[in-house]
Amino acid sequence: MLTKIHEGPDIFKIDVPLPNNPLKNLNCYIIQDNKDTLIIDTGFNRPECKEALLAGLDELQADWERTNLFLTHLHSDHTGLAPALMRGKPGKIYISQIDHMILNGSIRGERWKEVDEIYFREGFTREQLKELRTSNPARGLLPESLFEAEHVADGDKIHVGRWELRCVSVPGHTPGQMCLYCAEKKLMFTADHVLFDITPNITTWQEQKDSLGKYLDSLVRFRGFEMETALPAHRQNHMDVYERICQIIEHHLVRLEETVDTLAAFPGTHAMQIASGLKWSMRGKTWEEFPLSQRWFAVGETAAHLDYLICRGMAKKKEGEQNAYCLLEPAGECKMRLRKIWDGYRE
Ligand SMILES: [Zn+2]
Repeated sequence: MLTKIHEGPDIFKIDVPLPNNPLKNLNCYIIQDNKDTLIIDTGFNRPECKEALLAGLDELQADWERTNLFLTHLHSDHTGLAPALMRGKPGKIYISQIDHMILNGSIRGERWKEVDEIYFREGFTREQLKELRTSNPARGLLPESLFEAEHVADGDKIHVGRWELRCVSVPGHTPGQMCLYCAEKKLMFTADHVLFDITPNITTWQEQKDSLGKYLDSLVRFRGFEMETALPAHRQNHMDVYERICQIIEHHLVRLEETVDTLAAFPGTHAMQIASGLKWSMRGKTWEEFPLSQRWFAVGETAAHLDYLICRGMAKKKEGEQNAYCLLEPAGECKMRLRKIWDGYRE
């Protein structure tokens, strides 16, 4: 279903369903002016997404000679239909270089062996990792083929009719996530950088050290933009974007303190063990009952928080068959240091 959500620039939204996924939907935004069209993100490579996306685009009657596709970041709920949608059409696909490179590595399959090794060292069994090969949406719903793209970097301008949109690089959620900003209307497409009903997942990347530190820095920078309209990639925006940024920062700070306490109680354990001791919204389920793919995201998130502590000299990781994390200082001192660092984010 296509809904017009903004006039001048004209922005439409297609509500693309994400079946069996806690994100629930993807907001595919379409900007249109003077026959030029820019589509932002696509949904997973699965029939339900394709059907919704194509039905919405049909309704819009876009001129495919003048239609481009912007991919905010590499995740398959944003890129899954990119090659299928643009094949045989003259339009460009825009994405950051680093996310395009990682995505192509995932499509080729060569990345997963290394990723599996990382998660094995963090506590997953070989059997669980085998099961995740099909049940993990990050893996099973990728674009059907490699695709060519035009790489965009921070500050690049994309024009849609008379409107100018500026690329805003926000590393953290992925190494190369890119938002789009229309300065004239103080309008921001926030991608997965700022979401309103859920907290964007921050995980570890071989290609990005200190993901959480980078994410928090990107939030601070993002706060510097004048925004009257903020359009997230999932669900709704029901609150002030600046207030939401503060909430997300606070969430991670609380989570870091919790990580310090758990690490102090269980020194020398891997990220899975630490994750199982943290609070997650699991709708009454225990850690073991939590779906495996959700545990996979939770362990990645925990590893990112541990990495944040390591990068600031508060913890260390002993690498081996399985990783063993421990604090380098008493928990109370770590938390005092964290609070000092946080004051910088709160200003
Ligand atoms: Zn994402």
